[in-house]
Amino acid sequence: MPQGSKMRNIYMAFPEGKHKVLTLSYDDGKVPDKRLVSIFNEYGLKATFNMNFGLEKNPFTFPYEERIPFSEIKEVYKGHEIASHTFSHPTIARCPKEQIAQQILEDRRGLEEIMGYTVRGFAYPNGSFSDDVVDALKTCGMAYGRTIRSTHGFDLPADPYRWDPTCRHADPDLEAIYNEFIDAHKTQYLYCLYVWGHSYEFDKQNNWNIIEKFSKKIGNKSDIWYATNIEIIDYLEAVKRVQVSVNGDFAYNPNAKNVWIEVDKKSVELKAGETTEL
Ligand SMILES: [Zn+2]
Repeated sequence: MPQGSKMRNIYMAFPEGKHKVLTLSYDDGKVPDKRLVSIFNEYGLKATFNMNFGLEKNPFTFPYEERIPFSEIKEVYKGHEIASHTFSHPTIARCPKEQIAQQILEDRRGLEEIMGYTVRGFAYPNGSFSDDVVDALKTCGMAYGRTIRSTHGFDLPADPYRWDPTCRHADPDLEAIYNEFIDAHKTQYLYCLYVWGHSYEFDKQNNWNIIEKFSKKIGNKSDIWYATNIEIIDYLEAVKRVQVSVNGDFAYNPNAKNVWIEVDKKSVELKAGETTEL
């Protein structure tokens, strides 16, 4: 470096300069999702709900196994993300390639017709995936795929098509994990707590108290960004597009939305399409 120049410490940050994000993911679109959504809404939490377009009228034994009618979906899940979980929930890694592509695309087509926005999120049914399934997701324009492998950690996904969540809500360590997340304060890291499950488990095990306690404890906090899965993926893509001068004295945000960086520990908002002095 030339004499007199200094290296500024510049980091990517989450919206409003935050460094913690909570996201949730619930599968299969069954009736207990309604109660779950109302709990999340009460505490300001955001979730992704993974649906099978081909299973709306699937026969069921217990009331909690009934799927929410598609006529209600738009209203029930308002403010949250609807994502794909395949058309008919096969163990998809066992399917021939033609079936894989149809399972993804036909689910996406149906969900988009209902929701009126592009559906780009995906959760692997039965946790099943392979390199072929990942290739098919990319070809079908999907932005990420969630696995069922718990990390018990807070890392952002190294590969969004193999997005391993932190844990299930039924994990015996859930409480210890979310308390650690709430206490996390080292601003040199970005933390992501990712919890997933099925809302019918709460009816089946009669343990709604788990998610009520969790939501009350972790919700409405000023230092946590509450986001759906796709909001995280889209935000990270956007913030990675930022162009910072070599001297670190200005930055250009080429996106259509504002993003945040941290410069020498100070949070800086970069306005969409503008160059900002740092
Ligand atoms: Zn499922």
